[in-house]
Amino acid sequence: MPAALHTPHTVLVTGGCGFIGSNLVRYLLSQHQDVQVINLDALTYAGNRVNLNDIERDDSARYRFVHGDIGDETLVRRVFAEHHPDTVIHLAAESHVDRAIDDPLCFVRTNVLGTAVLLQAARQAWVGRADVRFHHVSTDEVFGSLGPTGRFTEDSTYAPSNPYSASKAGADHLVRAWFRTYGMPVTLSNCSNNFGPYQFPEKLIPLIIARALAGESLPIFGSGQQVRDWLHVEDHCRAIDLIVRCAAPGTTWHVGASNEWSNRALVEHLCTVLQDLRPRADGYLPLITHVADRPGHDQRYAIDATRLVQELGWSARQSFVGALRSTVQWYLAHQEWVVDLVQRHDATARRGLG
Ligand code: NAD
Repeated sequence: MPAALHTPHTVLVTGGCGFIGSNLVRYLLSQHQDVQVINLDALTYAGNRVNLNDIERDDSARYRFVHGDIGDETLVRRVFAEHHPDTVIHLAAESHVDRAIDDPLCFVRTNVLGTAVLLQAARQAWVGRADVRFHHVSTDEVFGSLGPTGRFTEDSTYAPSNPYSASKAGADHLVRAWFRTYGMPVTLSNCSNNFGPYQFPEKLIPLIIARALAGESLPIFGSGQQVRDWLHVEDHCRAIDLIVRCAAPGTTWHVGASNEWSNRALVEHLCTVLQDLRPRADGYLPLITHVADRPGHDQRYAIDATRLVQELGWSARQSFVGALRSTVQWYLAHQEWVVDLVQRHDATARRGLG
């Protein structure tokens, strides 16, 4: 690991009750005994306080939960005044493309306006302080769709295709503007598709597992030949932590493990893993059905993380096949968690047909 440029003590994590956020809170508290975490989360359908129940119970001296919206200026200012964070790791977002197609304004409010409110509150609270960092967690989807070859680099042109990726692109630009205009010490990361424990079961991998275990059809959008680049969430959390500590202000980092799968191949592979772990009379492959494609569906994403590997010494530690198997095992062991979300939020229903 290169020399640290910043040492976090009190970290404000936004969206810490979501998928990546809850894994990140867990990661930060387990890796750094000198770190405290404040988790600001609005508990939308995607936020689940249960994800961090054990931390609230066992690590209450180093962990605080604040229920609230990043777009609420008064509340966000109060969080800075009461807890004095020296580091913000900003993950709170509306994150599902299909929902963005149905309700784009909600995405603009949280992802664009919410990010601006947070930046402004941090700037005002941090006047005269150099020992601070604002890290923004973004996605490779801001670059739009690739053809069959090539990968997104930190210099790729922004070309978002849908209201989710456009709102995340807007947030990225705001974060850079606060660096250029006000000198706020920011860093950014754009990551490929994550998988792992605690992912809301509307996203491809937990959705397929949940529907397969319920004996329901396994929907593949369009041809299923769309390609996504998959990374285990713990490798992403380690990259975020490294960037926050070691990257220079104003820099952007791509996070990915060069692990491309077509959606069809991934669903077939999941069926094979499920059959091995929880055999079904006819197997799971016959449940696969092709359904209408998502409007504006991007064909391929692939991330070039060379800079992160060469300059900060990061590399993915999890092998995809092994980590996917342990992820399936996690969902099998946490079926109550899945069923509760599916029932309360109709999580596995089709959305976003335009
Ligand atoms: P998620 O949907 O699982 O969680 C989002 C969290 O944000 C939830 O806990 C939700 O309650 C909270 N939230 C939503 N609106 C809020 C608001 N207005 N105020 C406060 N909290 C609010 O999302 P995720 O998959 O964990 O993604 C986290 C971040 O990482 C997002 O910014 C996303 O764009 C980015 N990202 C995700 C992936 C991925 O594959 N999941 C990949 C790259 C980047």
